Amino acid sequence: MTEPAVDVDQPLAPDTPAAPHSASGEAVRTFDLSAVAPPARPARRWTPRRVVATPAAYDHAHGRRIMARVEALGIEVERLAANRLTGVRGETDRETYARAKATMAIVVSPPARRKLQPIAPSADWRFDLAEGCPAHCQYCYLAGSLSGPPVTRVYADLDDILAGLAAYAGHGTITSRRAARRDEGTTFEASCYTDPLALEHLTGSWRRAVEHFGGWDAPVQLRWTTKFDDVASFVGLPHAGRTRVRLSVNCAPVSTRMEGGTSSVPDRLAALRRLALDGYPVGLTIAPIIAVPDWQEHYGLLLDQVVAAVAGVPGLDLTAELITHRFTPGSKEVLLGWYPRTKLEMDEESRSRKHGKFGAVKYVYPAETMRQLRGWFETEIARRLPSCRILYWT
Ligand code: SF4
Repeated sequence: MTEPAVDVDQPLAPDTPAAPHSASGEAVRTFDLSAVAPPARPARRWTPRRVVATPAAYDHAHGRRIMARVEALGIEVERLAANRLTGVRGETDRETYARAKATMAIVVSPPARRKLQPIAPSADWRFDLAEGCPAHCQYCYLAGSLSGPPVTRVYADLDDILAGLAAYAGHGTITSRRAARRDEGTTFEASCYTDPLALEHLTGSWRRAVEHFGGWDAPVQLRWTTKFDDVASFVGLPHAGRTRVRLSVNCAPVSTRMEGGTSSVPDRLAALRRLALDGYPVGLTIAPIIAVPDWQEHYGLLLDQVVAAVAGVPGLDLTAELITHRFTPGSKEVLLGWYPRTKLEMDEESRSRKHGKFGAVKYVYPAETMRQLRGWFETEIARRLPSCRILYWT
């Protein structure tokens, strides 16, 4: 029997529904993949075990640049005969997951990804330079939306993707509706289905995006968020203040136990300081906010670390985006399959059931917990980081 191939030119996360936080509630297969969930540890630069490229990727200058970078690291690039990738499916689901997570495919972005989608409340528009991530966060919002083995796709047609953004400038709902964000111009989010700094050393894509926005003399802003600290190649770029980098951070019980393969929070905050000193607008994505026991104390310590990280930065432009933990029946099933020993609480009984877009069910904290969390974060951020602007709570 021939092995089913992975169609690498298809999106990893199909857009039904479009918003990654409202993943569909359909039943999905589960995977017992506990052995492949690594403990939280400091990140090393990701070295994929296998890199493949589709024929179309060779037609793009950026695709060839990625290949050259990868080959310079001593990794051979396999040229696929078509867009179908075989050799990913293992004997067991665990093996398939592990092989897919160690594989990177250089592809041309699927046409569906070239038509930008609104991505409230984060930005007016979302665009993608890659899909998939080598890290192992136990709450990862991608889990509910994956369409197959999580092979990371990186896009070779970067120049076309960046050129296509111009048509969206001046349009969008976030900046026109929210007075607090009007100074941002039209916002473009570039980290919905991946973590940029997990892949930047292999692609150079986000660096080029920062330069593109730096040279784009218009009211526009590039935004991305990361759990990695590898920012050296961004320091000194002509960013013109048109890229806001947010560091995704969490309190110690969450970041040290549930974010396998990412950089430590102190390292992420050191990266935030470095970028802020280089004149970038910066931000905190505090997500997912989890009501762990003694959460006030743990999140208080996190905010203290932030205070120390931004101390004395001239002209600091700091924002915060506050996102509470939520899950869907689909994402819970996938995550428990991948990380069956997770300590992440996903108890429907203690949550409120909500219907998102497209009628998908999601479980959020009950109103009283939400009220306490929100009140605490708004008060403590105002007290400890008075210049920090909260962009939204969700
Ligand atoms: S770093 Fe982000 S995209 Fe990657 S596994 Fe963690 S939550 Fe998911």
